[in-house]
Amino acid sequence: MKNLGIITSTILLMIGFISFESCKNDDSVAMPDPLVDTTDTTTADELAVYKKVYGASDIYKEGNFVVIKVNSLPDHPSPYYKDTDWSDKFEGYNGTNPDFHLNPNRVTQTNYTYKFPLNPVELSSGNQATTLGTIGVAINGVPLFNQYAGPNEQELTNEINSFDQYNGHPQQQGVYHYHIEPLYLTANKGKEALMGFLLDGFPVYGPEENGAEVTNSYLDEFHGHKHATADYPNGIYHYHFTDAAPYLNGDGFKGTPGTATR
Ligand SMILES: [Zn+2]
Ligand SMILES: [Zn+2]
Repeated sequence: MKNLGIITSTILLMIGFISFESCKNDDSVAMPDPLVDTTDTTTADELAVYKKVYGASDIYKEGNFVVIKVNSLPDHPSPYYKDTDWSDKFEGYNGTNPDFHLNPNRVTQTNYTYKFPLNPVELSSGNQATTLGTIGVAINGVPLFNQYAGPNEQELTNEINSFDQYNGHPQQQGVYHYHIEPLYLTANKGKEALMGFLLDGFPVYGPEENGAEVTNSYLDEFHGHKHATADYPNGIYHYHFTDAAPYLNGDGFKGTPGTATR
């Protein structure tokens, strides 16, 4: 069997070589030479993980930052699309919270330009607290918020009942966001997948790791820890969503935050 495999591979290689040769000799077709890589591979690799932010309208490098532009609209249905320009994305509440109530806000488009440090650095002191409003971006372009509700950094207790079936809701200006596990993303990408980035450039992962739930006890005061991940085989500090407060972020940013402007 092993020999058969080797023979098959050899034949396939030969076929590949022959067809490659025939392509190469066909001068009548003006095709770009696949062996000449015209892209800057260093830059391409640097941005590869950020390109997992599939909700972005633009992703590029600017100095020591990666710039990610989004319109913040969720790519999944929501009851908060009711009576909006995107009412085809309206879906009545079908989640599991018997106390769910629709808040008075509706989804609006909010164009954010995020700048994340391309090489995030862990600070040992002087860490900044996260603020109300966006503290990062999910891979679908939806803003990530911390564990508090406005205006006076209250616990999320009351807000949680207005989270839709995908765990998001809009604030007063209609900016839809997640404070806790984005259920649409974990359903589609898996519970261990990359969920987004906080403004300091460190990635956010789902609530499971190696098939087991990540609890707050595994994480430091900033709600993260450091080890190798699928996207960072050499290891990186990263945050996790967990099922208990503070859910996503604790005492602040592990690194120096970039900016989010609208
Ligand atoms: Zn909120
Ligand atoms: Zn982890």
